This record gives sequence, C-alpha cells and structure tokens, in this order.
Amino acid sequence: MDNYKINTKCVQAGYRPKNGEPRQVPVIQSTTFKYDTSEDMGKLFDLEASGYFYTRLQNPTNDYVAAKIAALEGGTAAMLTSSGQAANFFALFNICECGSHIVCSSSIYGGTFNLIAVTMAKMGIETTFISPDCTEAELNAAFKENTKAVFGETIANPALTVLDIEKFAKAAHSHGVPLIVDNTFPTPVNCRPIEWGADIVTHSTTKYMDGHGAAVGGAIVDSGKFDWMAHKDKFPGLCTPDDSYHGITYAEKFGKEGAFITKCTAQLMRDFGSIQSPQNAFILNLGLESLHVRMPKHVENGQAVAEFLEANPNVEFVNYPGLKNDKYHKLAEKYLPNGGCGVVSFCLKGGRSQAEKFMKALKLIAIETHVADARSCCLNPATSTHRQLTDKQLEEAGIPAGLIRISCGLEDKEDLINDLKQAFDSIK
Ligand SMILES: *Cc1c(COP(=O)(O)O)cnc(C)c1O
Repeated sequence: MDNYKINTKCVQAGYRPKNGEPRQVPVIQSTTFKYDTSEDMGKLFDLEASGYFYTRLQNPTNDYVAAKIAALEGGTAAMLTSSGQAANFFALFNICECGSHIVCSSSIYGGTFNLIAVTMAKMGIETTFISPDCTEAELNAAFKENTKAVFGETIANPALTVLDIEKFAKAAHSHGVPLIVDNTFPTPVNCRPIEWGADIVTHSTTKYMDGHGAAVGGAIVDSGKFDWMAHKDKFPGLCTPDDSYHGITYAEKFGKEGAFITKCTAQLMRDFGSIQSPQNAFILNLGLESLHVRMPKHVENGQAVAEFLEANPNVEFVNYPGLKNDKYHKLAEKYLPNGGCGVVSFCLKGGRSQAEKFMKALKLIAIETHVADARSCCLNPATSTHRQLTDKQLEEAGIPAGLIRISCGLEDKEDLINDLKQAFDSIK
C-alpha cells in the first residue's frame, strides 16, 4: 500500500484479504489460540516465531488496525492500547525507568500532564516541563545526563498551541534521545510528525480516529528511524539482553524497525495488560475508513466557527491556529497546511457566570467532557474539569474562567453558527 495516497490508505491499508476471505476486518473475539504441539507454542513464547497465543499480548484484529495506523503515519510498526493514556504511558515507560528524566512541552493534555508530573514522578521518573515557545537554547538547557525522551503534542488539547516539531526533534536528536509526539488532534490526515523528525507517534484513538464517540482506545507508532544501538548506554532495555525472554536483545533481533513495538508488546502488554478489545478495534477501523473525509469537514466547521467568534463583541479572544491573527498561525501554515482540527477555544466576556448561561442556552452544541467526534460539543473548564481552581489559579494556568472549548462536529456550519448566535442573544 506504500505507493497509495493517504485517502486510499484510510480505506484499505492494514487488512488485505486473500482469495475468499472476509472483505471487512474480522473481529477475532477470542482470548486464546490453539496449537498442535507445545513446541509450536514455545517458539511464540520465545519470540522465535510470530503468531498469536493470548489476546492480552496480541490479537489479529488489533494488528490489522494498528498496521493501518502505521501506514497512515508512515511508521514501520504500531500497536493498539486500551486508551490514549495507556499509549502515552507505554511509549514513555518503554524507554524510561526509575532514575530517568523526560523533557516535556508544558502545553499538553491535562491527563497526560498528571500521568507524567504526578504518577510517573512516583515511579522515580523526573520531568522538566518547558514552554513550546522556548528558544533552542532554552530547550537544550532542559536536557540532563539521564534524559531519555522528549514529549509534546502536535496541537495541544485544550490550549491549541502548535508544536514546532523540527525544533523539538533537532534538540532531542542532538542529545541522543527520541522525540515522542501525541498526534491526536490533527490525525495523520492533517500532519505526519514522522515526516518532520518525530521518532514515535502516539494517539488517543478515542478522538477523531474513532470519531463517533463510540470506543475509547490508543495507538503507538514507531518510525523505525531511531538508532537505539547508537545510544546503547541510554537504552539498556532495548540494547542489552532481556532476561524475561531468554536473553533476547530487542534492538539486535528486531532492528530499528521493530525493536520498540516488539519490546512494548512483549514486556509492557504482558505485564500491564492494557490491550484494546478487538471489538473496539473493529469500531475504530470503521472510523478510520472515513477519517480523510471527516477531517476536512471538522476543519471547515472549526474555521467558520472561529471566524464567527473572532468577530463577536462578546468574545475577548479566540484560540484557533487557522486564524490569521492566532499566535500559532505561522507554525500551522508549516505543519498543518490543510488545517488542524475542529476544536476551537474562546473566552467570553463576563467570566464564569456568563459562560454558564451561554452554554445552557446552546441547543445543538451539547455540554460534554469530550472532543473530536461527529456531534459538536462544548465545555467550560472553570465549571467542570478545573472547577477546584479559584479564578486566580485559573488565570495562572492560562485558563480564564470564561474560557469555553467547542469541538466542532460534522453538522452544517450554518446551524452551528446560528446556535451560537441565539445563545449570544439570550445572554444579552
Ligand atoms: C484525550 C487525549 C488523551 C487521552 O486519551 P484517552 O483515550 O482519553 O485515554 C491523550 N492525549 C490527547 C491529546 C488527548 O486529547
């Protein structure tokens, strides 16, 4: 499928049925697989042969769908996880351990921030958070001897900052570590971070990839480009023998193309067990089949809503990289030439109480803790996800009390704008 365009890959990459086989990806709803001899199965346990023995580690349905996502991102290997949280945790923990250090963009999803800043800190993994707008010198100064990875989001949720992927990749590589990019918001239809130097790409497939609010899931894609053996001392888990697999050295046996995902499956899935259910993988694949058709519509609606809000006197400011006046417009033109996503955030004049009244007045755009599905939805962090913070703390976190995040779905943009119009009228 390598020579086909991304639109074709969305529809047909991954699962390629042979003569007489099912046209649609089959759901292999089976925990286990049958073998004729113990010897056959032993080879699988020793990673001497590839095949399936227990769905906690691998399942064919998941692998078909992961192969599609690898093809979309331009990677060499991929795996599905039970959620986006599991994907980011595995991607980092596959190369970090107690005593390691991470350099991370400060503008990331709140769940990922908690994972890295609180939970992984308890495991002895320390992180330096740095503004995505930092200079190269500031970025380089954040590295330590024990730094193992750099992490950022292509378009951050919910701040909608755009990551300068080349700047972060250059710094990571000059310190001998990979750049991991969470590409959830643009999806590979709008940005392929590997083409700009990222080494590992992660996803919350819960968002646009599924796109219908139907299945929580995650994915990890390896570019196959990072030379682990060239930085042997930093990555003993990949470059020295694994005692739990009879002394296999992943980077030697599976090469640059396969080592990262094989180790992640063989060790982390085996031990933590955060597999995506085959049923969810099937649902995810239905979403992927139309991803290239849906993303331009999400972008069109996001752009129209952002422009409408920008011109409204009740609005203090709008964050949307597609707007000419947005702080990240230049980076968006470079990394997201076809647009980014359908998520827009804006600050309403009058703070928390006006925001509450405004959202209550919306008829089509529903209040939900979600983004990136077919139905438009909105959220006011001050009264929901961040409601424990005072107005002053909210300001400091860059989330003013009147901030509303709207995820523009696939409805008609005129209907979305009319819904916003009538809500503005009702709070006058
Ligand atoms: C939602 C989200 C996650 C977490 O994904 P889940 O599937 O909810 O676990 C991670 N990163 C980004 C950018 C997200 O938007």
